[in-house]
Amino acid sequence: MDNTVDRLKQMVARLKELGHRMTPQRLAILEILAESKEHPSAEMVYEQLKERFPTMSPATVYKNISLLKETGEALELGFADGSNRYDGNKPYPHPHLICLACGSIIDPDLTSFQELTRHLTETTGYEISTYRIDFFGLCPTCQINGSKGRRA
Ligand SMILES: [Zn+2]
Ligand SMILES: [Zn+2]
Repeated sequence: MDNTVDRLKQMVARLKELGHRMTPQRLAILEILAESKEHPSAEMVYEQLKERFPTMSPATVYKNISLLKETGEALELGFADGSNRYDGNKPYPHPHLICLACGSIIDPDLTSFQELTRHLTETTGYEISTYRIDFFGLCPTCQINGSKGRRA
């Protein structure tokens, strides 16, 4: 994603504005969330960083992700099994495609959804502040591998 650097700058600026110190660990966590290529879980972020920061605890990762969530800098995708995933690249509501077999999560093209939201506002008179739209299925790789899906 080409806006990763901008997102990182925005996140850092926001946290500093709120009086939070920047540590190398915090910055590394922000970097991963700013990209959010795979919509990582806290565990995935920890796995990616534990070699670089051997003294860092999973709790540090959780705390930083909560902070981003509370400040509106990361979107949380909650799942019934408790394996929450995060998107810090697009911290606002948007639809997701979720693979039931491997758990991969991607963002579809958003233009048509902005139109849909506008259409709903016009036809219902609702002032829409947020929404959740998840599409569940099998990603192309899992279709080839013949997976059946485990989340469903
Ligand atoms: Zn898959
Ligand atoms: Zn997303």
